[in-house]
Amino acid sequence: MKTIDCDVAVVGAGPAGLAAAEAAKSTGAGKVIIIERDIRAGGILQQGIHPGFGLQIFGEELTGPEYAERYMKQADSAGVELLLGTTALELRDRELVCAGTEGLLHVRFGALVLAMGCRERTRANLVIPGSRPSGIYTAGTAQKLINIYGDKIGKEVVILGSGDIGMIMARRLTLEGAHVKAVVELLPFLAGLTRNKVQCLDDFGIPLLLSHTVVDIEGVDRLTSVTVCPVDEKRRPVLDKQEKIPCDTLLLSVGLIPENELSRTGKIELSPVTRGAVVNQYKQTSNPAVFACGNVLHVNDLVDHVSRESAEAGRNAALYAAGKLPSAAAYAAVPGNGIRYVCPQKVVADGNEEVTLYFRTMIPGRRTVIRCTANGKELVSRKCVRTSPGTMEKLVLSKETVASLNGPIEVSCEHGEVLA
Ligand SMILES: Cc1cc2nc3c(=O)[nH]c(=O)nc-3n(C[C@H](O)[C@H](O)[C@H](O)COP(=O)(O)OP(=O)(O)OC[C@H]3O[C@@H](n4cnc5c(N)ncnc54)[C@H](O)[C@@H]3O)c2cc1C
Repeated sequence: MKTIDCDVAVVGAGPAGLAAAEAAKSTGAGKVIIIERDIRAGGILQQGIHPGFGLQIFGEELTGPEYAERYMKQADSAGVELLLGTTALELRDRELVCAGTEGLLHVRFGALVLAMGCRERTRANLVIPGSRPSGIYTAGTAQKLINIYGDKIGKEVVILGSGDIGMIMARRLTLEGAHVKAVVELLPFLAGLTRNKVQCLDDFGIPLLLSHTVVDIEGVDRLTSVTVCPVDEKRRPVLDKQEKIPCDTLLLSVGLIPENELSRTGKIELSPVTRGAVVNQYKQTSNPAVFACGNVLHVNDLVDHVSRESAEAGRNAALYAAGKLPSAAAYAAVPGNGIRYVCPQKVVADGNEEVTLYFRTMIPGRRTVIRCTANGKELVSRKCVRTSPGTMEKLVLSKETVASLNGPIEVSCEHGEVLA
Protein backbone atom coordinates (compact mmCIF):
# COMPACT_ATOMS: atom_id res chain seq x y z
CA MET A 1 0.00 0.00 0.00
CA LYS A 2 1.34 3.40 -1.02
CA THR A 3 1.58 6.37 1.39
CA ILE A 4 1.89 10.01 0.34
CA ASP A 5 2.82 12.81 2.75
CA CYS A 6 1.71 16.34 1.96
CA ASP A 7 1.25 19.71 3.64
CA VAL A 8 -2.28 20.27 2.37
CA ALA A 9 -4.59 17.64 0.87
CA VAL A 10 -7.83 18.66 -0.87
CA VAL A 11 -10.68 16.25 -1.65
CA GLY A 12 -12.54 17.20 -4.84
CA ALA A 13 -11.31 18.99 -7.99
CA GLY A 14 -14.44 21.05 -8.64
CA PRO A 15 -14.21 24.85 -8.51
CA ALA A 16 -14.00 24.71 -4.69
CA GLY A 17 -11.10 22.24 -4.55
CA LEU A 18 -9.18 23.94 -7.38
CA ALA A 19 -9.45 27.40 -5.76
CA ALA A 20 -8.53 26.02 -2.32
CA ALA A 21 -5.49 24.13 -3.61
CA GLU A 22 -4.20 27.08 -5.62
CA ALA A 23 -4.61 29.40 -2.62
CA ALA A 24 -2.86 26.91 -0.30
CA LYS A 25 0.10 26.75 -2.67
CA SER A 26 0.22 30.55 -3.11
CA THR A 27 0.22 30.92 0.69
CA GLY A 28 3.42 28.91 0.84
CA ALA A 29 2.34 25.30 1.45
CA GLY A 30 5.00 22.89 0.14
CA LYS A 31 3.25 19.84 -1.29
CA VAL A 32 -0.43 20.33 -2.13
CA ILE A 33 -2.42 17.51 -3.70
CA ILE A 34 -6.02 17.23 -4.89
CA ILE A 35 -7.72 13.83 -4.69
CA GLU A 36 -10.49 13.54 -7.31
CA ARG A 37 -12.62 10.46 -7.99
CA ASP A 38 -13.52 11.51 -11.54
CA ILE A 39 -11.14 11.01 -14.45
CA ARG A 40 -11.00 14.75 -15.07
CA ALA A 41 -11.06 17.93 -12.98
CA GLY A 42 -13.81 20.56 -13.04
CA GLY A 43 -16.56 18.95 -10.97
CA ILE A 44 -20.14 19.83 -11.87
CA LEU A 45 -18.91 22.70 -14.10
CA GLN A 46 -17.96 20.18 -16.79
CA GLN A 47 -21.62 19.70 -17.70
CA GLY A 48 -22.72 23.35 -17.31
CA ILE A 49 -22.25 24.39 -20.93
CA HIS A 50 -24.61 27.35 -20.57
CA PRO A 51 -23.22 30.87 -19.97
CA GLY A 52 -23.59 32.57 -16.58
CA PHE A 53 -20.46 31.58 -14.68
CA GLY A 54 -17.82 34.03 -13.44
CA LEU A 55 -19.65 37.36 -13.79
CA GLN A 56 -18.38 38.55 -10.40
CA ILE A 57 -14.81 37.17 -10.46
CA PHE A 58 -13.86 37.61 -14.12
CA GLY A 59 -16.44 40.28 -15.06
CA GLU A 60 -17.49 38.21 -18.06
CA GLU A 61 -20.01 35.49 -18.75
CA LEU A 62 -18.23 32.15 -19.11
CA THR A 63 -19.56 28.64 -19.55
CA GLY A 64 -18.88 26.13 -16.78
CA PRO A 65 -16.01 24.36 -18.63
CA GLU A 66 -14.39 27.74 -19.48
CA TYR A 67 -14.58 28.83 -15.84
CA ALA A 68 -13.17 25.50 -14.63
CA GLU A 69 -10.33 25.68 -17.16
CA ARG A 70 -9.14 29.03 -15.79
CA TYR A 71 -8.89 27.58 -12.28
CA MET A 72 -7.27 24.36 -13.56
CA LYS A 73 -4.56 26.43 -15.28
CA GLN A 74 -3.99 28.52 -12.13
CA ALA A 75 -3.72 25.40 -9.94
CA ASP A 76 -1.40 23.75 -12.44
CA SER A 77 0.94 26.75 -12.72
CA ALA A 78 1.01 27.07 -8.93
CA GLY A 79 2.36 23.49 -8.78
CA VAL A 80 -0.69 21.71 -7.34
CA GLU A 81 -0.59 17.91 -7.88
CA LEU A 82 -3.77 16.25 -9.09
CA LEU A 83 -4.60 12.60 -8.33
CA LEU A 84 -7.47 11.69 -10.68
CA GLY A 85 -9.54 8.50 -10.53
CA THR A 86 -8.97 8.38 -6.77
CA THR A 87 -11.77 8.32 -4.20
CA ALA A 88 -11.24 9.38 -0.58
CA LEU A 89 -13.01 6.71 1.47
CA GLU A 90 -12.17 7.39 5.09
CA LEU A 91 -10.92 10.31 7.14
CA ARG A 92 -8.76 9.44 10.12
CA ASP A 93 -7.02 11.95 12.39
CA ARG A 94 -4.32 13.26 9.99
CA GLU A 95 -4.75 10.70 7.28
CA LEU A 96 -7.07 9.87 4.39
CA VAL A 97 -7.62 6.35 3.12
CA CYS A 98 -8.21 6.47 -0.64
CA ALA A 99 -8.93 3.97 -3.42
CA GLY A 100 -7.14 4.70 -6.68
CA THR A 101 -6.22 2.99 -9.90
CA GLU A 102 -3.35 1.20 -8.16
CA GLY A 103 -5.28 0.10 -5.08
CA LEU A 104 -5.43 1.57 -1.60
CA LEU A 105 -3.52 4.74 -0.91
CA HIS A 106 -2.87 6.54 2.39
CA VAL A 107 -2.51 10.32 2.28
CA ARG A 108 -1.01 11.90 5.40
CA PHE A 109 -1.62 15.63 5.64
CA GLY A 110 -0.78 18.67 7.76
CA ALA A 111 -4.18 20.14 6.89
CA LEU A 112 -7.11 18.90 4.82
CA VAL A 113 -9.73 20.76 2.75
CA LEU A 114 -13.04 19.00 2.12
CA ALA A 115 -14.50 20.11 -1.25
CA MET A 116 -16.68 17.15 -2.29
CA GLY A 117 -19.65 19.15 -3.64
CA CYS A 118 -23.18 17.81 -3.36
CA ARG A 119 -25.60 15.38 -4.99
CA GLU A 120 -29.24 15.70 -6.03
CA ARG A 121 -32.31 14.61 -4.11
CA THR A 122 -34.09 11.78 -5.94
CA ARG A 123 -37.61 10.41 -6.28
CA ALA A 124 -36.82 8.10 -3.35
CA ASN A 125 -36.13 11.15 -1.15
CA LEU A 126 -39.53 12.62 -2.07
CA VAL A 127 -41.53 9.36 -1.95
CA ILE A 128 -43.78 10.25 -4.92
CA PRO A 129 -46.43 7.53 -5.31
CA GLY A 130 -47.12 5.72 -8.60
CA SER A 131 -45.55 3.16 -10.90
CA ARG A 132 -41.84 2.93 -11.68
CA PRO A 133 -41.47 3.55 -15.40
CA SER A 134 -38.36 4.84 -17.18
CA GLY A 135 -38.23 8.53 -18.10
CA ILE A 136 -37.69 9.95 -14.60
CA TYR A 137 -34.37 11.73 -14.09
CA THR A 138 -32.82 14.14 -11.66
CA ALA A 139 -32.15 17.41 -13.51
CA GLY A 140 -28.36 17.11 -13.12
CA THR A 141 -28.34 13.57 -14.54
CA ALA A 142 -30.41 14.76 -17.50
CA GLN A 143 -27.92 17.61 -17.95
CA LYS A 144 -25.01 15.16 -18.01
CA LEU A 145 -26.76 12.81 -20.47
CA ILE A 146 -27.57 15.65 -22.87
CA ASN A 147 -24.51 17.89 -22.53
CA ILE A 148 -21.75 15.28 -22.09
CA TYR A 149 -23.10 12.17 -23.85
CA GLY A 150 -25.29 13.89 -26.47
CA ASP A 151 -28.37 11.78 -25.60
CA LYS A 152 -31.97 12.75 -26.27
CA ILE A 153 -33.91 12.01 -23.11
CA GLY A 154 -37.56 12.75 -23.99
CA LYS A 155 -40.06 14.81 -25.94
CA GLU A 156 -42.85 15.84 -23.57
CA VAL A 157 -41.42 17.01 -20.27
CA VAL A 158 -42.67 18.08 -16.83
CA ILE A 159 -40.16 19.44 -14.31
CA LEU A 160 -40.77 19.15 -10.58
CA GLY A 161 -39.01 21.88 -8.59
CA SER A 162 -38.00 25.39 -9.57
CA GLY A 163 -34.35 25.03 -8.51
CA ASP A 164 -31.71 26.50 -10.80
CA ILE A 165 -30.76 23.20 -12.44
CA GLY A 166 -34.41 22.48 -13.29
CA MET A 167 -34.94 25.90 -14.88
CA ILE A 168 -31.66 25.68 -16.81
CA MET A 169 -32.73 22.25 -18.07
CA ALA A 170 -36.17 23.58 -19.08
CA ARG A 171 -34.38 25.91 -21.49
CA ARG A 172 -31.88 23.27 -22.60
CA LEU A 173 -34.61 20.74 -23.40
CA THR A 174 -36.60 23.36 -25.31
CA LEU A 175 -33.52 24.19 -27.38
CA GLU A 176 -33.12 20.44 -28.03
CA GLY A 177 -36.67 20.35 -29.51
CA ALA A 178 -38.58 18.96 -26.50
CA HIS A 179 -41.85 20.45 -25.26
CA VAL A 180 -41.55 21.47 -21.60
CA LYS A 181 -45.16 21.55 -20.43
CA ALA A 182 -44.67 23.01 -16.96
CA VAL A 183 -42.30 23.60 -14.07
CA VAL A 184 -44.17 22.57 -10.92
CA GLU A 185 -43.10 24.08 -7.57
CA LEU A 186 -44.46 23.07 -4.14
CA LEU A 187 -43.53 26.39 -2.51
CA PRO A 188 -45.54 29.58 -3.14
CA PHE A 189 -42.32 31.17 -4.45
CA LEU A 190 -39.41 30.38 -6.78
CA ALA A 191 -36.68 28.11 -5.33
CA GLY A 192 -33.89 29.29 -7.66
CA LEU A 193 -32.53 32.60 -8.94
CA THR A 194 -34.92 35.14 -10.52
CA ARG A 195 -32.47 35.60 -13.41
CA ASN A 196 -32.91 31.91 -14.30
CA LYS A 197 -36.73 32.24 -14.28
CA VAL A 198 -36.49 35.19 -16.68
CA GLN A 199 -33.86 33.69 -19.00
CA CYS A 200 -34.95 30.04 -18.93
CA LEU A 201 -38.75 30.02 -18.39
CA ASP A 202 -40.26 33.42 -19.28
CA ASP A 203 -38.18 33.85 -22.47
CA PHE A 204 -39.39 30.44 -23.70
CA GLY A 205 -43.04 30.71 -22.56
CA ILE A 206 -42.68 27.80 -20.09
CA PRO A 207 -45.41 27.93 -17.41
CA LEU A 208 -44.39 27.94 -13.73
CA LEU A 209 -47.03 26.45 -11.41
CA LEU A 210 -46.29 27.68 -7.88
CA SER A 211 -47.95 25.93 -4.86
CA HIS A 212 -48.38 22.75 -6.94
CA THR A 213 -46.91 19.26 -6.72
CA VAL A 214 -46.83 15.88 -8.48
CA VAL A 215 -49.03 13.33 -6.69
CA ASP A 216 -48.98 10.40 -9.11
CA ILE A 217 -46.79 8.87 -11.79
CA GLU A 218 -48.20 6.57 -14.50
CA GLY A 219 -46.64 4.33 -17.11
CA VAL A 220 -45.51 0.73 -17.45
CA ASP A 221 -42.26 0.70 -19.41
CA ARG A 222 -42.09 4.42 -20.11
CA LEU A 223 -43.71 7.32 -18.26
CA THR A 224 -47.07 8.26 -19.86
CA SER A 225 -48.39 10.96 -17.49
CA VAL A 226 -47.98 12.70 -14.15
CA THR A 227 -50.81 13.98 -11.98
CA VAL A 228 -50.29 17.52 -10.75
CA CYS A 229 -52.39 19.30 -8.15
CA PRO A 230 -52.33 22.50 -6.10
CA VAL A 231 -51.36 22.46 -2.42
CA ASP A 232 -52.93 24.41 0.45
CA GLU A 233 -51.05 26.73 2.82
CA LYS A 234 -49.86 23.68 4.81
CA ARG A 235 -48.52 22.14 1.56
CA ARG A 236 -51.20 19.40 1.54
CA PRO A 237 -52.39 18.41 -1.96
CA VAL A 238 -55.90 19.64 -2.85
CA LEU A 239 -56.82 16.39 -4.61
CA ASP A 240 -60.17 17.45 -6.11
CA LYS A 241 -58.28 19.97 -8.26
CA GLN A 242 -55.79 17.46 -9.68
CA GLU A 243 -54.94 17.39 -13.37
CA LYS A 244 -53.27 14.68 -15.44
CA ILE A 245 -50.48 15.92 -17.73
CA PRO A 246 -49.47 13.47 -20.49
CA CYS A 247 -45.65 13.35 -20.73
CA ASP A 248 -42.81 10.88 -21.33
CA THR A 249 -40.23 12.58 -19.07
CA LEU A 250 -40.22 13.90 -15.52
CA LEU A 251 -37.20 15.85 -14.27
CA LEU A 252 -36.66 16.34 -10.55
CA SER A 253 -34.98 19.56 -9.42
CA VAL A 254 -35.82 19.34 -5.77
CA GLY A 255 -32.67 20.18 -3.88
CA LEU A 256 -29.07 19.22 -3.32
CA ILE A 257 -27.48 17.32 -0.44
CA PRO A 258 -23.85 18.06 0.55
CA GLU A 259 -21.74 14.89 0.10
CA ASN A 260 -20.57 14.51 3.67
CA GLU A 261 -20.10 10.73 3.97
CA LEU A 262 -16.34 11.26 4.21
CA SER A 263 -16.76 14.01 6.82
CA ARG A 264 -18.87 11.62 8.91
CA THR A 265 -16.08 9.02 8.93
CA GLY A 266 -13.88 11.74 10.45
CA LYS A 267 -16.57 12.63 13.03
CA ILE A 268 -16.72 16.23 11.77
CA GLU A 269 -19.61 18.15 13.37
CA LEU A 270 -22.34 18.79 10.77
CA SER A 271 -25.13 21.38 10.80
CA PRO A 272 -28.66 19.87 10.70
CA VAL A 273 -29.79 22.83 8.54
CA THR A 274 -27.07 23.14 5.86
CA ARG A 275 -26.03 19.47 6.22
CA GLY A 276 -22.49 20.75 5.77
CA ALA A 277 -19.75 21.12 8.39
CA VAL A 278 -20.01 23.65 11.20
CA VAL A 279 -17.14 26.09 10.55
CA ASN A 280 -15.63 29.36 11.73
CA GLN A 281 -14.62 32.14 9.30
CA TYR A 282 -11.40 30.29 8.48
CA LYS A 283 -13.70 27.50 7.19
CA GLN A 284 -12.15 25.36 9.92
CA THR A 285 -14.33 22.47 11.12
CA SER A 286 -14.64 20.79 14.53
CA ASN A 287 -11.35 19.02 13.70
CA PRO A 288 -8.91 21.98 13.62
CA ALA A 289 -6.78 20.37 10.87
CA VAL A 290 -9.82 19.98 8.58
CA PHE A 291 -11.38 22.79 6.53
CA ALA A 292 -14.49 22.71 4.30
CA CYS A 293 -15.70 24.84 1.39
CA GLY A 294 -17.97 24.98 -1.65
CA ASN A 295 -21.19 23.01 -1.98
CA VAL A 296 -20.11 20.41 0.58
CA LEU A 297 -20.21 23.24 3.15
CA HIS A 298 -23.49 24.86 2.04
CA VAL A 299 -25.30 24.86 -1.30
CA ASN A 300 -24.21 27.89 -3.33
CA ASP A 301 -26.14 29.62 -6.10
CA LEU A 302 -23.10 31.18 -7.81
CA VAL A 303 -19.73 29.64 -8.51
CA ASP A 304 -18.05 33.00 -7.82
CA HIS A 305 -18.99 32.69 -4.12
CA VAL A 306 -17.61 29.15 -4.13
CA SER A 307 -14.26 30.25 -5.52
CA ARG A 308 -13.86 33.13 -3.05
CA GLU A 309 -14.87 31.10 -0.01
CA SER A 310 -12.68 28.17 -1.08
CA ALA A 311 -9.60 30.36 -1.59
CA GLU A 312 -10.04 31.42 2.06
CA ALA A 313 -10.29 27.76 3.13
CA GLY A 314 -7.12 26.86 1.18
CA ARG A 315 -5.15 29.82 2.53
CA ASN A 316 -6.15 29.04 6.12
CA ALA A 317 -5.38 25.34 5.67
CA ALA A 318 -1.86 26.32 4.53
CA LEU A 319 -1.46 28.63 7.55
CA TYR A 320 -2.68 25.86 9.88
CA ALA A 321 -0.23 23.34 8.38
CA ALA A 322 2.56 25.87 8.98
CA GLY A 323 1.37 26.51 12.57
CA LYS A 324 0.50 30.14 11.71
CA LEU A 325 -3.32 30.22 11.89
CA PRO A 326 -4.30 32.77 14.56
CA SER A 327 -6.43 31.64 17.46
CA ALA A 328 -8.74 33.61 19.75
CA ALA A 329 -12.13 33.18 21.44
CA ALA A 330 -14.87 32.00 19.06
CA TYR A 331 -18.52 33.10 19.26
CA ALA A 332 -21.62 31.59 17.65
CA ALA A 333 -23.21 33.27 14.60
CA VAL A 334 -26.87 32.26 14.71
CA PRO A 335 -29.90 32.79 12.44
CA GLY A 336 -32.53 35.15 13.90
CA ASN A 337 -35.89 36.34 12.59
CA GLY A 338 -36.52 35.32 8.95
CA ILE A 339 -33.11 33.67 8.36
CA ARG A 340 -32.66 29.97 7.61
CA TYR A 341 -28.94 29.59 8.33
CA VAL A 342 -25.72 31.55 8.71
CA CYS A 343 -22.33 30.34 7.45
CA PRO A 344 -19.82 30.45 9.12
CA GLN A 345 -21.60 29.35 12.29
CA LYS A 346 -18.75 30.67 14.48
CA VAL A 347 -16.61 33.80 14.39
CA VAL A 348 -13.13 33.87 15.91
CA ALA A 349 -12.59 37.35 17.39
CA ASP A 350 -9.05 37.69 16.02
CA GLY A 351 -9.60 41.05 14.30
CA ASN A 352 -7.06 40.22 11.59
CA GLU A 353 -9.47 40.45 8.68
CA GLU A 354 -13.06 41.35 7.90
CA VAL A 355 -15.52 38.45 8.04
CA THR A 356 -18.22 37.76 5.45
CA LEU A 357 -21.36 36.10 6.80
CA TYR A 358 -23.36 34.22 4.12
CA PHE A 359 -27.03 33.39 4.75
CA ARG A 360 -30.42 32.78 3.14
CA THR A 361 -33.79 34.31 4.02
CA MET A 362 -36.78 32.02 4.70
CA ILE A 363 -39.32 33.77 2.44
CA PRO A 364 -39.08 36.34 -0.37
CA GLY A 365 -39.68 40.00 0.34
CA ARG A 366 -39.22 43.56 -0.91
CA ARG A 367 -37.55 46.51 0.85
CA THR A 368 -35.81 44.09 3.19
CA VAL A 369 -33.42 45.20 5.92
CA ILE A 370 -30.86 42.57 6.89
CA ARG A 371 -28.84 43.13 10.02
CA CYS A 372 -26.28 41.54 12.30
CA THR A 373 -26.54 42.28 16.02
CA ALA A 374 -24.70 41.37 19.24
CA ASN A 375 -26.44 41.74 22.62
CA GLY A 376 -29.27 43.60 20.81
CA LYS A 377 -26.81 46.20 19.40
CA GLU A 378 -26.53 46.56 15.62
CA LEU A 379 -23.08 45.72 14.22
CA VAL A 380 -23.90 46.11 10.53
CA SER A 381 -27.02 46.30 8.35
CA ARG A 382 -27.98 46.61 4.69
CA LYS A 383 -31.14 47.51 2.76
CA CYS A 384 -32.09 45.23 -0.13
CA VAL A 385 -34.62 46.07 -2.85
CA ARG A 386 -35.63 42.40 -2.94
CA THR A 387 -34.56 39.19 -1.20
CA SER A 388 -35.48 35.58 -1.89
CA PRO A 389 -34.47 32.20 -0.42
CA GLY A 390 -32.97 31.24 -3.80
CA THR A 391 -30.38 34.03 -3.58
CA MET A 392 -27.59 33.89 -1.05
CA GLU A 393 -27.15 37.15 0.89
CA LYS A 394 -24.10 38.42 2.75
CA LEU A 395 -23.06 40.94 5.38
CA VAL A 396 -19.46 41.93 6.05
CA LEU A 397 -18.14 42.53 9.58
CA SER A 398 -15.18 44.92 9.68
CA LYS A 399 -11.90 43.90 11.33
CA GLU A 400 -12.62 46.27 14.22
CA THR A 401 -16.08 44.78 14.77
CA VAL A 402 -14.65 41.26 14.75
CA ALA A 403 -11.94 42.24 17.26
CA SER A 404 -14.55 43.75 19.60
CA LEU A 405 -16.83 40.68 19.78
CA ASN A 406 -17.43 39.29 23.25
CA GLY A 407 -20.54 37.16 22.74
CA PRO A 408 -22.76 35.49 20.13
CA ILE A 409 -23.99 37.39 17.09
CA GLU A 410 -27.33 37.07 15.28
CA VAL A 411 -28.38 37.74 11.70
CA SER A 412 -32.03 38.70 11.11
CA CYS A 413 -34.20 40.30 8.45
CA GLU A 414 -37.32 42.44 8.22
CA HIS A 415 -39.32 42.65 5.00
CA GLY A 416 -41.07 45.91 4.04
CA GLU A 417 -43.39 43.70 1.98
CA VAL A 418 -43.65 39.91 2.12
CA LEU A 419 -43.87 38.32 -1.34
CA ALA A 420 -44.84 34.73 -0.43
C1 LIG B 1 -26.60 22.12 -12.94
C2 LIG B 1 -25.94 23.29 -12.29
C3 LIG B 1 -25.97 24.53 -12.93
C4 LIG B 1 -25.32 25.62 -12.35
N1 LIG B 1 -25.31 26.82 -13.02
C5 LIG B 1 -24.59 27.86 -12.50
C6 LIG B 1 -24.46 29.11 -13.21
O1 LIG B 1 -25.04 29.31 -14.28
N2 LIG B 1 -23.68 30.08 -12.67
C7 LIG B 1 -23.04 29.91 -11.49
O2 LIG B 1 -22.31 30.80 -11.04
N3 LIG B 1 -23.16 28.76 -10.78
C8 LIG B 1 -23.91 27.74 -11.26
N4 LIG B 1 -24.02 26.56 -10.55
C9 LIG B 1 -23.41 26.48 -9.20
C10 LIG B 1 -21.93 26.08 -9.21
O3 LIG B 1 -21.62 25.39 -10.36
C11 LIG B 1 -21.66 25.21 -8.02
O4 LIG B 1 -21.99 25.94 -6.88
C12 LIG B 1 -20.17 24.79 -7.95
O5 LIG B 1 -19.84 24.08 -9.11
C13 LIG B 1 -19.89 23.92 -6.73
O6 LIG B 1 -18.51 23.59 -6.72
P1 LIG B 1 -17.88 22.49 -5.78
O7 LIG B 1 -16.44 22.41 -6.14
O8 LIG B 1 -18.26 22.74 -4.38
O9 LIG B 1 -18.62 21.12 -6.17
P2 LIG B 1 -18.51 20.20 -7.48
O10 LIG B 1 -18.38 21.00 -8.71
O11 LIG B 1 -19.66 19.26 -7.37
O12 LIG B 1 -17.14 19.39 -7.26
C14 LIG B 1 -16.99 18.38 -6.28
C15 LIG B 1 -15.92 17.40 -6.75
O13 LIG B 1 -15.60 16.53 -5.66
C16 LIG B 1 -15.42 15.21 -6.19
N5 LIG B 1 -15.61 14.27 -5.07
C17 LIG B 1 -16.73 14.11 -4.29
N6 LIG B 1 -16.52 13.18 -3.34
C18 LIG B 1 -15.26 12.73 -3.51
C19 LIG B 1 -14.47 11.76 -2.81
N7 LIG B 1 -14.92 11.09 -1.73
N8 LIG B 1 -13.21 11.53 -3.26
C20 LIG B 1 -12.71 12.21 -4.34
N9 LIG B 1 -13.43 13.15 -5.03
C21 LIG B 1 -14.67 13.40 -4.61
C22 LIG B 1 -16.49 15.12 -7.27
O14 LIG B 1 -16.20 14.10 -8.20
C23 LIG B 1 -16.40 16.53 -7.90
O15 LIG B 1 -15.47 16.59 -8.95
C24 LIG B 1 -24.67 25.46 -11.09
C25 LIG B 1 -24.68 24.22 -10.43
C26 LIG B 1 -25.32 23.15 -11.01
C27 LIG B 1 -25.31 21.82 -10.25
